Amino acid sequence: MKTSWVTVPDHSDFSIYNIPFGVFTTPTTATRVASRIGDYAVDVFVFAELGFLNDIPFDKNVLKKATLNDFIACGNAVWRAVRQKLQDFLTGTPATAKIQEYVSKGLLLPIEKVQSLLPVEIGDYTDFYSSIEHATNVGSMFRPDNPLLPNWKHIPIGYHGRASSIVVSGTNFHRPKGQFKLPDQENPSFGASRQMDFELEFAFIIGKGNALGTTIPVEKAEEHIFGFVLFNDWSARDIQSWEYQPLGPFLGKNFCSSMSAWVVTLDALAPFRVAMPTHDDTPILPYLQETGNKNFDIQLEVAIQPQGQTETVICHSNTKYLYWSATQQLTHHTVNGCNSRIGDVYASGTISGKDKNSFGSLLELTWRGTQPLKMADGSERKFLQDNDTVIMRGYAEKDGMRVGFGEVVGQVLPAL
Ligand code: CA
Repeated sequence: MKTSWVTVPDHSDFSIYNIPFGVFTTPTTATRVASRIGDYAVDVFVFAELGFLNDIPFDKNVLKKATLNDFIACGNAVWRAVRQKLQDFLTGTPATAKIQEYVSKGLLLPIEKVQSLLPVEIGDYTDFYSSIEHATNVGSMFRPDNPLLPNWKHIPIGYHGRASSIVVSGTNFHRPKGQFKLPDQENPSFGASRQMDFELEFAFIIGKGNALGTTIPVEKAEEHIFGFVLFNDWSARDIQSWEYQPLGPFLGKNFCSSMSAWVVTLDALAPFRVAMPTHDDTPILPYLQETGNKNFDIQLEVAIQPQGQTETVICHSNTKYLYWSATQQLTHHTVNGCNSRIGDVYASGTISGKDKNSFGSLLELTWRGTQPLKMADGSERKFLQDNDTVIMRGYAEKDGMRVGFGEVVGQVLPAL
């Protein structure tokens, strides 16, 4: 059982077992690559300046950048070694005088004193559709007799999303405007979306790209993953349902997507691996077949907080419900020779379970608005109202170890 000399509150997502990576800035510090322990950000550049990374050969200036991309480009061996050094350092027990020196040099900063930035520069973003319960729920609303399309159990379905509008947790946005068709109208209308929704997702970030024309084999795919974040694929259902045929999601999705600030590594998630659901009833093609535990047992929850009110938790889900793994998604994405690059983000698609309270979107939780949800303040929600804040959380816990993602938070401001 590891403990840290830095005080870590009970049930903190950022225990000594996590040691994630992120980027922060403060009014007095330039941008810094960071880690986190409990309620402190760790300035990894200061850590290097104190000499703790001297025996890891890489250009320490990558630790002063505004994104993790250059640090990630130093390679898997470097980030694993840096994380290990941080973990060892935070586990040891330095003398009190040393701790005072570290604090005075800015190695440890109270989390409320730093501003987390979007951790990576994202060149490309893809969103999958890898939860069978979500695909079945949505399919059954639109095609009651044929909810799951015939390709679904054979390929990880996805679409190319928009990278430019991905923001870090804590960034608010205005309700999007667009074109939609009201059920009682013959012609479409233009205005603020009336059906704002969230989608609870899990995303991975590319740590090593592949050249155009090459494919990442499924058994090598984990070597290309830097880490994972929670992801909210905000969705305007009325805009989406009018525009999505025949080419799929577009303006109903690309106005904003939010991700958590701390990237949790595969090493940190290793103790929480679980098997994928079986694909026994529909065998998959050899290039997607893999062995080993490729899913994770990460508990997820979503809460809505109306302005000035307490939050109401409306969903409990789990990443283990995913039918397709991150590695299958990445292999499928590159099977035609499509290249991936450091910092690219691949989101899972909405993660729903079998139970109604595990559905990962309001579309499903309220069944297209026909079954409103009760909030703690007595109000009801079919879809999100102006000034509602959506909070997603995720953590894994086992044998006294807890590794989590913190929160991904965003508020829907009124349309401009
Ligand atoms: Ca989605």
